[in-house]
Amino acid sequence: MGKGSVVNVQYPARERLANLPTPLQPLLKITEQFSRPYGGPKIWIKRDDLTESAMSGNKLRKLEFIIAEARARGCNTLITCGGEQSNHCRATALAAAKAGLQAHLILRKSSNNPPDASEVPDGNLLVDYLAGAEVSLYPLREYLDRLPQLFEHWAGFYQQRGDRALCIPTGGSDGLGIWGYLLATEELLEDCKSAGFHPDAVVCASGSGGTQAGLTLGVALCESRARVTGYAVCDDSEYFVNKVAADVKDWAERYGQSFDIDKSRIHVIDDYIGPGYGIATEEIYQTIALAAQLEGILLDPVYTGKAFHGLLQDIQRGHYRGCENLVFVHTGGQFGVFPQRTGFQKSWSAG
Ligand SMILES: *Cc1c(COP(=O)(O)O)cnc(C)c1O
Repeated sequence: MGKGSVVNVQYPARERLANLPTPLQPLLKITEQFSRPYGGPKIWIKRDDLTESAMSGNKLRKLEFIIAEARARGCNTLITCGGEQSNHCRATALAAAKAGLQAHLILRKSSNNPPDASEVPDGNLLVDYLAGAEVSLYPLREYLDRLPQLFEHWAGFYQQRGDRALCIPTGGSDGLGIWGYLLATEELLEDCKSAGFHPDAVVCASGSGGTQAGLTLGVALCESRARVTGYAVCDDSEYFVNKVAADVKDWAERYGQSFDIDKSRIHVIDDYIGPGYGIATEEIYQTIALAAQLEGILLDPVYTGKAFHGLLQDIQRGHYRGCENLVFVHTGGQFGVFPQRTGFQKSWSAG
């Protein structure tokens, strides 16, 4: 990739981990039943849930550049952070194992209760342990108050042991991780071209903003007319506009690019967060069941299910009129379905 593309930047080193390109597929039944009757677009799905099996999801694209950077800096350890069911931490744990690096995960419990050794790990957390990652679980409050100190503490711990750690921010989202979705944008536009169209809209879930930042930067550099919209799953629109702009700025500074993003090109919808991060509602569970039943696609209750639900609502409200082809980026998250198994009980017969 890169060659023959319109993006005229020199990509940094990349460690191949993901199976690329991921497929681009039309969602025919959902388009017919839930978009066309409202004057909405043909919906396509970019299957970044298929970047790998256990390591699957959007974080793997960022990790390709992050792990190459860790090697370049002579690091043998990756320290990163996230929620107890973080997909990013799970992908990091497995990618580190494959690359022969240690992983240390600073994880946030969803409550202020101290970690309980009798709790059986589930979903992503179970995989973290299987991958041999060091896991430090913190009560919610302590994590929120002390995250920078926790990174400092563990980086110091490894330094004292004679190791060298690379600290990766939440979601791998910064000026380094953004390369993953810059490359992905080129891939996506190429896919669309092969399928005979240019996308009018590209939609993703936004959690730490890096995926949206890469896509937004990517379409700008490729001079594509596609409008990138992030559906927020935690913080509000203002937060994400600033975060996306900050990631792009960090990228420009680190890599000597004179690019400055226009904030009016950063589109965030924060109407579908619901009760909070990681908390889904009955409609979200039903949309997940619907996508599984109509298209054989598994969305997750934390990110993609929320974003896709929001997208269908907005299509029905007419917000995507005039848009012919829309690409929804399926960013992964399958392991997050299982810890929320009780939420799906009423959803079997949806659709
Ligand atoms: C992390 C994640 C996102 C959000 O991506 P960001 O780059 O953090 O905004 C979306 N979907 C899934 C499944 C994720 O794990």
